Amino acid sequence: MKNDEMEEGQPAWDLNEWEDALTLRVGTTYVCRVCGNVVMVSKGGVGVLDLVCCGKPMEQTRARGREERR
Ligand SMILES: [Zn+2]
Repeated sequence: MKNDEMEEGQPAWDLNEWEDALTLRVGTTYVCRVCGNVVMVSKGGVGVLDLVCCGKPMEQTRARGREERR
């Protein structure tokens, strides 16, 4: 793989954003807006978590007291 191939194509994402998107933090919770079910990540790791409840994707909430959207 050539390095200069990776520099192009994804200009909007810097390293921090990739890390943020691909890291599963312990304590991160997901809530189902339909039934109120809450799932908490109890084991950290790297990957994409695609939780679905009631046929809809669960909404991630941050436990840091900062809400990005309501
Ligand atoms: Zn549900």
